[in-house]
Amino acid sequence: MKTADRPQTIQRVVQEAVETLSAAKDLVPHLEAESLLAFTLGKSRAYLFAWPEKTLTPDELKRFRNLILRRLKGEPHAYLTGQKAFWSLLLKVSRETLIPRPETELLVERALELLPLNLSNTIADLGTGSGAIAAALAHERPMSQIWATDRSAAALAVARENFQRIGLRNIACAEGNWCEALPSGINFSLIVSNPPYIRAGDPHLGQGGLPWEPVGALVSGETGLNDLRQIIDQAFAHLLPGGWLLLEHGFDQGSQVRLLLAERGYVAIRTRHDLSGLDRLTEGHRPTQETGTNPGLRIGESTPS
Ligand code: GLN
Repeated sequence: MKTADRPQTIQRVVQEAVETLSAAKDLVPHLEAESLLAFTLGKSRAYLFAWPEKTLTPDELKRFRNLILRRLKGEPHAYLTGQKAFWSLLLKVSRETLIPRPETELLVERALELLPLNLSNTIADLGTGSGAIAAALAHERPMSQIWATDRSAAALAVARENFQRIGLRNIACAEGNWCEALPSGINFSLIVSNPPYIRAGDPHLGQGGLPWEPVGALVSGETGLNDLRQIIDQAFAHLLPGGWLLLEHGFDQGSQVRLLLAERGYVAIRTRHDLSGLDRLTEGHRPTQETGTNPGLRIGESTPS
C-alpha cells in the first residue's frame, strides 16, 4: 500500500502533526497535536489513547490539518478552539477579545480576599473582554452584583454569551469607555480592571500570540499608561468611601501606578507580584473620610446607597 493510501488513523495523524509542529519553537508538539485532534473529534485526549486505530473521516482530517497549520504559524491555541480555561471556568474567546492570562487570576484572588463571602457588594469589571474576571467574581460571590463593561460591542457579546452559558445571573453588561459605562447613582465596593497597558511600538507586540490579539485591548499610547491613568482618575468618584480599586499593569509600571493613585487621593496603596515575581497588580482604596488616613474598610460593611 502506498503511504497516501494507508488508513488515516488517530495514531498516524497525531504522528504526522507532531512532525509538522516540531518546526515551531516554544511548542510542546504532542500536547498541541493531541489536544487539537481531541477538539476536532469532539472527544477527550483519553479517547485518542483508547482508540489509536480509529480512522478519521476526510472532513475531520481536513479540519485537523488546517488547525495544525494555523498553530504552526503561531495562532494561539485558544483562538483555534475558541475557548480558554480561566479560574474554574471554561470561557469562550474570539479574536475580538484578549485571551485570559493566568496572571490575571491574581487579580481575582486579591478581589476575593477583599470581598466577604456572605455579603452583598457592588463590583465593576472595566474592560471585561471575554468576561473572565467578572465571571470568576460573580461565580465566587453569588450574593454580589457585578457590572461588566467594555467599549467593544463585539467583546461584550462574547462576555454575555459566557455569563449566560455559565448561568451567572448576578452580572449586568454595559457598553462604553471605562467608568462612562457605569450606571449613575450606584457607588461600588470594588472596581477591578485589566486594561491595555503595553507601550505602542513595544517589540513584545510582535511576539508569541500577541499579533493575533486585538491591539485595542493591548496597547495604551506611547507610555502604556493612558488607560490606567483614566481609570484611576474616573474610578475614585464611583467608589464608596472605603471601596477598592484593583488594577493589573505591566511589570515595570508599579511605581507609576502607585504615584497616580496617590496623586488622586487613594490610600493603602500596595503593589503585588505575579507568580514570576514581577509587579503585576496595584491596589488602593478611597478614604472613608476625605481628610485622610483610616484603618481601611472591610468591603461590604457599608452598603450601597
Ligand atoms: N499581560 C498581557 C501581555 O503582556 C497584556 C495584557 C494587557 O495589556 N492587559 O501579554
